[in-house]
Amino acid sequence: MSNKLEGKVAIITGGASGIGEATVHHFAVHGARMIVIADIQDELGQKVVEAIGSNKCSYMHCDVTDEEQVKNLVQSTVQNYGSLDIMFSNAGTVSNSIQTVLELDFAAFDRLFTVNVRGMAACVKHAARAMVELNVRGSIICTASTTASCGSERDTDYNMSKHAVIGLMRSASKQLGEHGIRVNSVSPFIVGTPLLYHYLGTEAEVEQLFESYARLKGVVLKAKHVADAVVFLASQDSELITGHDLVVDAGFLVK
Ligand code: NAD
Repeated sequence: MSNKLEGKVAIITGGASGIGEATVHHFAVHGARMIVIADIQDELGQKVVEAIGSNKCSYMHCDVTDEEQVKNLVQSTVQNYGSLDIMFSNAGTVSNSIQTVLELDFAAFDRLFTVNVRGMAACVKHAARAMVELNVRGSIICTASTTASCGSERDTDYNMSKHAVIGLMRSASKQLGEHGIRVNSVSPFIVGTPLLYHYLGTEAEVEQLFESYARLKGVVLKAKHVADAVVFLASQDSELITGHDLVVDAGFLVK
């Protein structure tokens, strides 16, 4: 236990699974007063609440592609828990088809952008509005990816969407600085979560792939390592850090 996030009210989108779920646990360990999980996987979300305890954690169905649902999520969090100090905008998806430039399927492209880009922007917009209104010096963290710092061999739409997340984070950090609101992103390399199972294989296979690319040997990137970076960006430990993309990649991107 630590008190890095003591008294804080946080929303975590995509908190029912993977990196979001690990971050819910980390926020609880670091003393957050209330963590609101926003997701579309209701059963999984409720299970995470049961594991943490309903005095510290609650679940709300929220499809981030629907701005009204995002607005409602933020408003009811403020109404029920009196504040909004941290928004971890993390929900994301991948296309089921191979999205090389030559094969781009625009229906899949539009679906992905609606979640990864528009949904991300809606979460940042409504969290920021609430923080400005409440006069809270809050922290907003978006999940980007190492793919936002390079090109991709097949996931063009996903790669483009994560570049857009970095643009959102940078613009929001410039615009919200005058209100004392910090905006950063976290960029994981390959983590074994359900997001990747359908096209990269089992958790063990995903982790093998990670190990073959990571420069730092003898480590495996887990969701909890990303959650550590998010706690840092959410807490006063990063008091002067805004507009920054924190990569968690065991040196994959080192040139
Ligand atoms: P995950 O599939 O375990 O979790 C994603 C969560 O987002 C799920 O619970 C899902 O239900 C939720 N979600 C999807 N669409 C939603 C919507 N419209 N509204 C609300 N919730 C929605 O995957 P993960 O790996 O934990 O992914 C979390 C974030 O990390 C994503 O933004 C992803 O792009 C990013 N990321 C993942 C990796 C990786 O290797 N796993 C690497 C870099 C970035």
